Amino acid sequence: MNKNAYSSLSTLCIEILLLLLFCMSSASAYPVKVNDMKMATNIGLAVEYIEDSASAYTLEDIIKLNNSNQFKTSSKVPLNFGYSPNTYWLCFSVMGDTYSESGWVLDLPYAPLDYVTFYIPDGKGDYKELKGGDRIDRRAKQLNLAHPAFILGNQLLAYQQYYIKVSSSGSINMPLFLWTGAAFTEHLDRSKLAIGILFGILFALMLYNLFLYISTRDNDFLICNLLILAYSFVQGGYFGISTQYLWPDMIWWANKSLVVFASFTFLSIAFYTNSFLKLKENSTFLYKAMLGFMVFYIVLSIASLFIDYRLASIIIALVAILLLITVFIGGMVVYARGYKPARFFLLAWTFFLLGMVLLLLKLLGILPHVFITEHSVQLGFAINAVLLSFALADRVNILRKEKDKAQQEALEHLEESQLAKSKFLADTERLVEKRTIELEGANKRLAELASIDVLTGLSNRRIFNEAMDKEFQRAKRARNELALIILDIDYFKNYNDSYGHLRGDDCLRELAGIFRSTLSRATDTLARYGGEEFAIILCDTNLEGAVKVAESIRQAVEDAYIPHNKSDLGYVTVSCGVTSVIPMMHDRIEDFINNADSALYDAKSAGRNCVKYKQVINR
Ligand code: GH3
Ligand code: MG
Ligand code: MG
Repeated sequence: MNKNAYSSLSTLCIEILLLLLFCMSSASAYPVKVNDMKMATNIGLAVEYIEDSASAYTLEDIIKLNNSNQFKTSSKVPLNFGYSPNTYWLCFSVMGDTYSESGWVLDLPYAPLDYVTFYIPDGKGDYKELKGGDRIDRRAKQLNLAHPAFILGNQLLAYQQYYIKVSSSGSINMPLFLWTGAAFTEHLDRSKLAIGILFGILFALMLYNLFLYISTRDNDFLICNLLILAYSFVQGGYFGISTQYLWPDMIWWANKSLVVFASFTFLSIAFYTNSFLKLKENSTFLYKAMLGFMVFYIVLSIASLFIDYRLASIIIALVAILLLITVFIGGMVVYARGYKPARFFLLAWTFFLLGMVLLLLKLLGILPHVFITEHSVQLGFAINAVLLSFALADRVNILRKEKDKAQQEALEHLEESQLAKSKFLADTERLVEKRTIELEGANKRLAELASIDVLTGLSNRRIFNEAMDKEFQRAKRARNELALIILDIDYFKNYNDSYGHLRGDDCLRELAGIFRSTLSRATDTLARYGGEEFAIILCDTNLEGAVKVAESIRQAVEDAYIPHNKSDLGYVTVSCGVTSVIPMMHDRIEDFINNADSALYDAKSAGRNCVKYKQVINR
C-alpha cells in the first residue's frame, strides 16, 4: 500500500546515472539455475518481458505470444520500465536442484508497485494466481509484507514458464530474487534489525537534539529534528510501518503521505542548510536558491494531495537532485570562505551520497547483496542524520570557543586600557603637580617682577600707588596723619653724562641702600617713584616727623660722600619735598602728591641738598 517517493528518488537518480554510464549488453534469457542456498538468486537477467499497452491481454494470450517468441530479453538489472502507464508481463523458467526443504520464495523488493500478479504453473498446463502490490487488500495477499513476495512451494517446476503481470502508477522497477524459505526468513529478520537500528538511531538523535536545544536554545536543533522526523515518516512508509500501525485503513492517505513526507524531508533539508550554513550572511545567491526550494516543496506538499502521484514523485525527485547538488555546493562554498562548522555538514552529505553510490553499485551487480548494500540508503541517511546533529554540536563548540577567545581578548584589552588609563592618570597627576609648582614659581617671579624695581630692589611705582591708596583710605577712616617724602637726586643728568649710565645705575642702587637703611619703621613704604626720584609713605606721621626723616636721609646721602664732579659740592646730594595730611572725606591723593612735588620744587629752587615741606592749606 506504499508509494515511496524517497525510493523513487533513488531509483530515478540511478536510472539517470545508468543512462549516463552505460547500457548493459543484451543477453539472451536462460532458465535460472537454482539450488538450496543461503543467498538470493538474482533472476533479473533470466527474465523476458512483453509490453501490454492496452492492458488487454489475458494469460492465454500471453502464453501464445511467448510460444511465438514475442517476448524480449531484459537488458537491465534490475528490470526497469520507469514511469509507464503500460502493463508489463514477465516470464522466466528454472532448472537445476529445484527442491528446497524450506520452500521457495519469489521476492520483488520494491514496495511501491501497485498491482503484481504471479502465475505459477501447476504442471498440468494450468496456472495458480497469486496477488501482491500495495493497491491489493492485505487480506488478499499470500504474504503480508510491505513489498510483493510469493511462496512457491517446495518444488519448482523445471523448464516451465512462470509469469508475472505488473502495472503501477509509480516507477515500474522490478528487482527479482529467488530465495529458499530459510534464507528469506533470515533476510527478513536482518531487514527488521536494520529497521530497528535505523529507527533506534533516529529516535536517539531526536532526543539528543532536544536536550541540546534545551541547553543551548539553538533553533537549528529543532530544524534538524524536523528533518529527522520527516525522514522517519518516509522510511516508516517505505517499510510499511506507518501503514501497519499509524493509518492501516486509510489507503488514500497512505499513498499521499509518502509524497507529502518526502516534500517535508526536502523542505527541511533546505531549511536546515540555510540556517546551519548561515547562507543569508555567507551567500545571498545560495540563500535565495534555498528559499526557492523551500517555497517549492511547501507548494508541492499541498499540491501533491491533488495531482497525480506519478507526476508528483517525478517532480520531487528531479528537484531533489538539484537541491542536493545545491546543498553540497553550499557546504563547500561556505567552508571555503572559512566557516569551520561546515566540515561535519559536508561529511554528512558525503555519507548520504555514498549510500546512493553503494545502492547503484549493488543494482549494477558490482557489489553483492549483503546487509550494507541492501540498506545503503538507510545507512547513508542514518550516518547523515548523526553527522548533521554532530555538526550542530560541533558548531556550538566552535562558536563557544570563538566567543571565549573574543571575551578573553576583550578582557585583556580592558585590563590593558585600564592599566594605560591609570598610568596616564598617574603621569598626568605628576605632570600637573610639576607644572603647578613651576607655575607657582613663575607666578611668584612674575608678581615680584611686577612689584619690584629691578635696578634698585625697592618697590616700584605700582606698589607705591597701591600702598598710597590703602594708606590714604586707612588714614581717612582712622583720622590719622599721613606723610609723604619725595626725593630727587641732584644733578643726576650731569652724573650720567660724566660717569656714564652704568655708573649712574650703581649710584642709584647705592642710594636705594642708604634710603632703606635709614628708615626704621616697618610700616613705611619706600619706592622708586620715577627715574631718579624716590618716594616714602610714612603712616601715622606728622609733618615734623616726616621732615626729620627726610633730613636724616639727606644727611646720610651727604655722609656717604659719593663723588660727583659735575655738582657744586663735588658729591652726590638729594633734595626732599615733604608734606603731611589728616585726610578728610573729599581730599584727593593727587593733591597730596602734588603738595610733596611742590615742596620738592621748592627745595630745588632753594639750591638743592635740602628739605622743604608744604603744609596743607585752605582746609
Ligand atoms: P635736578 O637737580 O634738577 O634734579 O637735575 P637732574 O639732572 O637730576 O634732573 P633731570 O630730571 O633733568 O634729570 C634726571 C636724570 O636722571 C635723567 C637721566 O639721565 C637720569 N636717570 C633717570 N633714571 C635713571 C636710571 O635709571 N639710571 C641712570 N643711570 N640714570 C637715570
Ligand atoms: Mg628729576
Ligand atoms: Mg634730579
